[in-house]
Amino acid sequence: MTYQVLARTWRPQRFDDLLGQEAVVQTLTNALRAGTFGHAYLFSGLRGVGKTTAARLLAKAVNCSEGPTAEPCGECASCREITDGSSLDVIEMDAATHTGVDDVRELQELLRYHPTRDRFRVIIVDEVHMLSKSAFNALLKTIEEPPPYILWIFATTDRLKVPATILSRCQQLEFRPVGTELIRGRLSEIAAAEGFTLAPSAAAAIAGAAEGSVRDALSLLDQLRAFAADDIDDQAIAAVLGVPPMEATAGLVDALASGRIAEGLSMLRNQLVGGQDASVLYREIGRVLRTTLYLAVDPNLESSLADSHRTVLQPIADAHGADPLSRMLGVWLEQERLLREAGNRELALEVASLRLARWPMVRTLEGWLGGSGDLAPTPGAASGSAEMPPTAGGGPPGTGPGSAQGGGGPARATRSSERDLVGAAENAVDDMAAEAAATDIKGASQEEEVRSDPGVALATRVLGGDVVAVRPDGGD
Ligand SMILES: [Zn+2]
Repeated sequence: MTYQVLARTWRPQRFDDLLGQEAVVQTLTNALRAGTFGHAYLFSGLRGVGKTTAARLLAKAVNCSEGPTAEPCGECASCREITDGSSLDVIEMDAATHTGVDDVRELQELLRYHPTRDRFRVIIVDEVHMLSKSAFNALLKTIEEPPPYILWIFATTDRLKVPATILSRCQQLEFRPVGTELIRGRLSEIAAAEGFTLAPSAAAAIAGAAEGSVRDALSLLDQLRAFAADDIDDQAIAAVLGVPPMEATAGLVDALASGRIAEGLSMLRNQLVGGQDASVLYREIGRVLRTTLYLAVDPNLESSLADSHRTVLQPIADAHGADPLSRMLGVWLEQERLLREAGNRELALEVASLRLARWPMVRTLEGWLGGSGDLAPTPGAASGSAEMPPTAGGGPPGTGPGSAQGGGGPARATRSSERDLVGAAENAVDDMAAEAAATDIKGASQEEEVRSDPGVALATRVLGGDVVAVRPDGGD
């Protein structure tokens, strides 16, 4: 028996099975029930969200021997032939490969004749925006005054490229990207029905990678079955999707968020040396930051998170808190342009990571400067300060030399000097980020090196008095 791809086996046969397109389904089924459906539709939306499937369902609905009906029987000759793609009255044309005016003329020739058996000749034109200008003009005549037995269904992933003259003659239905949660649910359903094991975390990873496209999700699942047979877990996901295991990314994020810069960079370097793509890593770090932020705001927000991932991420969320995590996520998103424009994306990713890692220090400074309550140092940042020389590895958070100094300094600091101090720290870290990224920093994973990492050194320097030089209140 030959293997049939899941997207075909699991193609929805009823409007109700169309995933995540309630508005479209309601519009179509209402029109079918009332008998007021149009003679030309334009379905637009992302690839793999159900446009062609909906077009075939609509063809069945109007031609079913029990129709026109919102619930085509699926059993009659007409329904079965449409499912097989053998119906003489339902013509599918891919405009991506048939772009010319001759192709449209050929279609027009067909339109002269009444349907061979069914009520309607249904013409489904996929990727209609790819037609040439002359083809569009030829088409226009046909849809302006169509014979009553013709139903046009155009589908496109790029509605803006469809001429306004065509758009205005169609009923336009916008297909939405399908929610990750819906896709995840469908994948689990399919796994259960097909009798293979799909780890919940793996289903979530596929759904996330599919970015709203059900078809993409199903073809990824096909690939994974080919790779891992009947047991699809996180390892299979890492191998096939080319994403690092979530635990590795979470460890990296935790190191950076705690200001353990050298450790973080070393983990990052290991991933890159291991062949991980910088853009994928960037995206995955963003994903982990986002999930962790949600968990910090409210653990119930991520109800679909696999338990194995929650076990790893919840402690990180609890350690850092929502406010710092949201600021770090903001910083991280700002680095996208850097990565996109950089000639060397690995270097750009390292710089981006260094910028992320500066936040615990800035926050610690803010805390020492007596900022507002919600800016108080996090446990993570505080433990970072406890590692600081000269009494590295000393007492519990709050008893290190940093906080002792903090007790003296901030009382005298004016508002403008606070801003300058934090600004100077940020700038200095930026400079160091560039510097450090330009240097080969691989292998810096030992604890000694963590203690002497540039971030901790800077914090010490700043707090040790160097920054006093930039304080404007010196002459007050
Ligand atoms: Zn039927």
